[in-house]
Amino acid sequence: MSYLYNLWDDFISLLFPRLCYGCGNDLLRNENLICTGCYVVIPRTNYHLDENNQVAQLFWGRCRLEKAAAFSFYTRGSRIRNLIHNLKYKGVKEIGNELGRIYGLSLKSSGFMSDIDLILPVPLHASKKRVRGFNQSETISTGIGEVTDLPVSIVSLVRITASATQTTRSRYERWTNVEGIFAVTDPEFIRGRHILLVDDVITTGSTIESCVNELLKVEGVKVSVVALAFAVV
Ligand SMILES: [Zn+2]
Repeated sequence: MSYLYNLWDDFISLLFPRLCYGCGNDLLRNENLICTGCYVVIPRTNYHLDENNQVAQLFWGRCRLEKAAAFSFYTRGSRIRNLIHNLKYKGVKEIGNELGRIYGLSLKSSGFMSDIDLILPVPLHASKKRVRGFNQSETISTGIGEVTDLPVSIVSLVRITASATQTTRSRYERWTNVEGIFAVTDPEFIRGRHILLVDDVITTGSTIESCVNELLKVEGVKVSVVALAFAVV
């Protein structure tokens, strides 16, 4: 029976090939979204094992973080870049869930998650979320939450100002642009909790900084940060 099933499966994949979102090669039957080759060559930072890593250092003197880490390096032409591109701009939400689960398992086994109470994705402005249909950081958070059994809240932190795309601005303009654009909706809910803030890519860190400073206004809150990728600028 399973032989017949596999034969049928092979036949279907001849008609509708399933391709890896990292490299474009055919996926094997047991692979989902991302091929084994991509898993192997994605350059992991292992920053969750080093508390004085480059992402943590990016925020030194800017905002108080407990821990900070990123899954991989965001380099030109890299497979993680293709994966994140397919997630954000082609709307393949499952990539966020899958990478979130993979990273979540590493974070969990290293003890990084041991004192985290709540996961919050970096919010998109409502208008941008409407256009894109979803928030990519939310899909990553969901994946991390699934494997760590931690709650994810998508309503506790919101973006109240829509800003133009950040890619065309200088670092200084970006820095000034993100002041005061996030708000905590229910301070009581997050009071005294250790929050894991989740983003897709960390570049200058200005968006994260703005979120963290807003969260830290609530008494007893501690914040740690993770992202799928770290772009060295
Ligand atoms: Zn691949």
